[in-house]
Amino acid sequence: MITMQIEGFQVYVTETHRCACYLIETSKKRVLIDTSMQFERNTVTKCIQKNGTKGIDAIFLTHSHTDHVANALYFSNIFNCEVYISKKGIRNMKNGHCNMPKGTNSLSKGIYWAESRLPSYNFTQFHPCPQVRILNDEVVTYYLGDSAELLETPGHTDDSISILLKRKIAIVGDLMVNTFGNLYPPFADDESALNTSWKALLNTRCNVFLPAHGRPIHRKKLISSYKNHFLYASKGHS
Ligand SMILES: [Zn+2]
Repeated sequence: MITMQIEGFQVYVTETHRCACYLIETSKKRVLIDTSMQFERNTVTKCIQKNGTKGIDAIFLTHSHTDHVANALYFSNIFNCEVYISKKGIRNMKNGHCNMPKGTNSLSKGIYWAESRLPSYNFTQFHPCPQVRILNDEVVTYYLGDSAELLETPGHTDDSISILLKRKIAIVGDLMVNTFGNLYPPFADDESALNTSWKALLNTRCNVFLPAHGRPIHRKKLISSYKNHFLYASKGHS
């Protein structure tokens, strides 16, 4: 069940299908990163309760998409803990609404086009979380200590953040995926910002990047994918 262990931290991943959540444990606190979809609620709860203790001290959200935030209110109430998201995500959390992200390939562009024309598909709606608070450096230090950091990583959405642990592991939300061998996210609102955020993450010297969709990504693979998508593409090779 332990995904990774580095000095001072244990990181567990939920066995959810739609969106992986990560549980970070220090000697003092436990923080859940993201909450997945409503139908995955029991799987996330089992992960939280499997590891000896029963609760969590806080929830951090990587961004305000439904598949990451749908259980924020529920877990906040069940575990009596605070929910945090970047300043730009506060309004969506209070309204219970996010925008459908833009597609980056022909399939996801089609889904983006269809979403606004299929009223029964409700990706953009979720339970509002009125008690949400702003996630900032002080909050991250309070819960996870000095060797954890918050990095703003817009691109997939403008409210996306990553959490770094000892500059070795980065939990990156949907900034990248690792499902079919391709790391480039199928959805991104701003691909230029995505480029900058990938570069910023590589500059942290982290070795492993944990996405919400797919397996852990090693630094070498991210460098190669970065070159393919941003450097070669910008020179007209793609
Ligand atoms: Zn997303």
